[in-house]
Amino acid sequence: MKIYDQFFIDGEWVEPSTGDRFESPNPATGQPWASVAEGRAEDIDRAVQSAHNAFENGPWHIMPASQRSEILRRLGDLVLKHSDHLAKLETTDNGKAIRETGGVEIPAIAKWYYYFAGLAETIEGRTIPVNNDLHVHTVREPVGVCGCILPWNSPLLMAAFKLAPALAAGNTVVFKPSENTSVSILEFANLIQEAGIPPGVVNIVPGYGPVAGKALAQHPLVDKIAFTGGTETGKQIAHYAADGVKRVSLELGGKSPNIVFDDYDLEEAVVGVMSGIFVAAGQTCVAGSRLFVHDKIYDEFLDLLVKRTRQIRVDNPMDPTTQMGAQTCQSQLNKIKELVQSGIDEGADLMTGGKPPQDADPSSYFFLPTVFSGVQTNMRIAQEEIFGPVVSVFRFSEEDELVEKANGVKYGLAAGLWTRDVKRALRLSRRLKAGSVWINCYRKINWAVPFGGFKMSGYGRENGQEVLDLFTQTKSVWIDISEDYIDPYAT
Ligand code: NAD
Repeated sequence: MKIYDQFFIDGEWVEPSTGDRFESPNPATGQPWASVAEGRAEDIDRAVQSAHNAFENGPWHIMPASQRSEILRRLGDLVLKHSDHLAKLETTDNGKAIRETGGVEIPAIAKWYYYFAGLAETIEGRTIPVNNDLHVHTVREPVGVCGCILPWNSPLLMAAFKLAPALAAGNTVVFKPSENTSVSILEFANLIQEAGIPPGVVNIVPGYGPVAGKALAQHPLVDKIAFTGGTETGKQIAHYAADGVKRVSLELGGKSPNIVFDDYDLEEAVVGVMSGIFVAAGQTCVAGSRLFVHDKIYDEFLDLLVKRTRQIRVDNPMDPTTQMGAQTCQSQLNKIKELVQSGIDEGADLMTGGKPPQDADPSSYFFLPTVFSGVQTNMRIAQEEIFGPVVSVFRFSEEDELVEKANGVKYGLAAGLWTRDVKRALRLSRRLKAGSVWINCYRKINWAVPFGGFKMSGYGRENGQEVLDLFTQTKSVWIDISEDYIDPYAT
């Protein structure tokens, strides 16, 4: 078993306040593979003090932006150099297939650091022509200490969404990774050191949400909270932020519609729909978990979807030929099983899946890709985020009814549309209440493109130039340049 018994604070590995640790199981076996020191409020306080001190007294936000930019570029290079190692850690810890972590996700993370290395030098203010007597300009300053709380599905990617812009703008950071996946971000600390990021600028303390996460979100010296996770936790974080009048951004859950019209190539749409829901074993916030298929192609589409779904290879995530890995944790597996059972009990038709693979180790967290048809919009599987490989299929024919149903959930993170009709595609993209709309593609995410939710999927935009608004604050500077002055007290 790997032991991680220290925290990364003030640029070095330090002893925790207690000897308590928690175990991180390997989802492919259910057996613990890492033991991680559990952070308490005292440890969080130490990390926040270090970040505060680095912000107030350190060189980070006062150094030339070009120098910060160089360091971020070096961090991107290090991600690429160590991507095999990081991908293996991520796969061992969260069960995602290595063809996803190693093939796509981890190498792409370097691009976040490169892109924000470039943007670091573009954080500029404005000159505002108020009148001839005044020169007014604005300056965009970093907000200070940013508390970043992470989920378990893509720990290093979610960290990059926050760390790259936070550092580009000159902030300092304290990370609280998910208790299910703390290892990769702890090892990432070594790259932070090697890249030459000054001590205290990035600090990492794993621990449980209601203990370490809460302490971070409530700490008076934290200026901003960047949170990715479930909607219920997000609401709690928003309360903490309100009490401390902290800036907050929330990337929360989803129940995204994926809509297929009868004019699109059937096979291509089936593949698009499958990867929209089954990638990462369904554990993505943008999962296309509600599928709307046009009446004219419904039966043929469903047959092909079920046939292809049954062929997905669910196996050891470390094997490069595996197409779908495991669920990250026991509680997530239990949640999926419970919601699948609710679908059966409420009368939906289970077309395939609905259980772990027959030959899976009973201690492991595998679950078969699952398709439900005959789903009614008021069923739990139609409304609640499952965060697993389960898709609910609906039939539609009328556009207005489709829009009403597609928007008829509390979430608004993403939506997909498959049609060759450009008018229809653009018309619907306006009517769908979602932060990202993909037309003839799904789950495209890029460092340069804003990403975030409508409705209860959260607020604030990560990625792109927009995220810099979350990590900067504007100061207006007024200078009187006139020779005269007005005395309001003169008689
Ligand atoms: P979660 O809400 O259970 O936990 C997220 C983080 O919050 C963890 O680090 C956890 O320890 C911490 N936490 C829990 N309770 C807390 C508290 N009271 N105070 C402070 N911190 C607390 O979410 P999860 O199960 O780790 O991740 C799955 C969820 O994340 C899904 O709902 C998914 O949709 C969402 N997600 C959203 C995005 C997005 O960009 N919108 C991306 C990935 C995941």
